Amino acid sequence: MNRPIIEPFRIKSVEPIRMSTRPEREALLEGAKLNVFLLRAQDVLIDFLTDSGTGAMSARQWAAIMEGDESYAGARSFFRLEAVIRRITGYSHLIPTHQGRAAERIFFAIATRKGDLVPNNTHFDTTRANLEYDGVEAMDLVIPEGTQPHVYHPFKGNIDLQRVEDLLKREGPRIPFGMLTLTNNSGGGQPVSMENLREYSALLKRHGKPLILDVCRFAENAMFIKLREPGFADRSIESIVREMFGHADGCLMSAKKDGMVNIGGFIALHDERWVEAARNLLILTEGFPTYGGLAGRDLEALAVGLEEVLQEDYLRYRLRTAEYMGERLKAGGVAIVEPTGGHAVYLDAKQVLPHLGPEDYPAWSLCNALYLEGGIRGVEIGSVMFGKRLEDGTETYHAMELVRLAFPRRVYTQSHFDYAAEVICQLRSRADEVRGVRITRQSRFLRHFTAEFRWA
Ligand SMILES: *Cc1c(COP(=O)(O)O)cnc(C)c1O
Repeated sequence: MNRPIIEPFRIKSVEPIRMSTRPEREALLEGAKLNVFLLRAQDVLIDFLTDSGTGAMSARQWAAIMEGDESYAGARSFFRLEAVIRRITGYSHLIPTHQGRAAERIFFAIATRKGDLVPNNTHFDTTRANLEYDGVEAMDLVIPEGTQPHVYHPFKGNIDLQRVEDLLKREGPRIPFGMLTLTNNSGGGQPVSMENLREYSALLKRHGKPLILDVCRFAENAMFIKLREPGFADRSIESIVREMFGHADGCLMSAKKDGMVNIGGFIALHDERWVEAARNLLILTEGFPTYGGLAGRDLEALAVGLEEVLQEDYLRYRLRTAEYMGERLKAGGVAIVEPTGGHAVYLDAKQVLPHLGPEDYPAWSLCNALYLEGGIRGVEIGSVMFGKRLEDGTETYHAMELVRLAFPRRVYTQSHFDYAAEVICQLRSRADEVRGVRITRQSRFLRHFTAEFRWA
């Protein structure tokens, strides 16, 4: 018997969401200049904009918040979190930061020099931006399958070891360390196999280079290993996670993802080498080493969140959510990126809206249509985000036109997902009514956050 995988929690506190009518949404979207980033969250029914910092905390986390020790130095909450992170990662040193990009900024400032080069499967955009800010080249070396939306591979986040080896031989002196992102967020939340992690680590070691992991979704990655990689089906998540961390020398973490908290991040490191320099920089911009950029209560909530994220029932439900959405959408004829990753489903707007050309910004149009049709907010990953208007007024376009629906942790129930799937499938059957958009106003950098549009 094939029983549904249910939400492994019951609800103790609720937050109302507001139904709206289509005419209301039309007015609201016009007011937001056809840009869903400019909507007020209260006007969104189902918010799939991001899974970052949008999750629900557990009763245990809220209880831990009351135990926060707000002492400036040497707070009990720091030592509690440090003990949890040591147990999970095996790394001795914890440096708390206010979120992931602060960990990146501090670590890159002390561990790289101008002109360096850092390989990764795919650098997340803040990771790339922080490296480039320091004059470091950020190189993406994901396997070829990782960039093909309709090709199946169980571990599409794997790094291309042959290309890494060539790079180490050619550019060795420029490479201070290697990075690997678990799961590969920019590549669709796709996992990395233990085998790939082990071989990458060994390859770097032969060249005398450390490995630093970007572990925003380490628990989701571990569950994919358990489900898909031979030899791991009977292993506990804790032991898989411990083995993953064991292949590396340290990690950078945005706790807003698998930390199960609304704000937070950290650096964790094996050896002393970088620790003192990192702490000095931390004091300069984040805070004293035993709280970083966080309150004592935030450290408490994170300590509990890191334990809860390792629960297998939770992870099974988490990965099943994306898979289930993918199945429903495919059954309704909606093209998606396959296989589904851990935290999101990506709609292929070129296939859903075949009548629109690149100048119509199909993924942006689809985002707007999802809001109008059902009050759903996703995010465009296409030519508004990655294209540019050149000096001479011509436009460059991105190869893929995707809409990402990212799922907050423990927030929505199956009926919310059923509703969203239904809305999208209905939209698909009337896709020819969806109009393209034109940009009327834009900024030079990260234009998608603030650009304004009109219907084509
Ligand atoms: C979110 C994220 C970051 C940055 O973390 P913030 O907490 O948003 O600053 C870095 N890397 C990856 C893979 C991420 O998903």
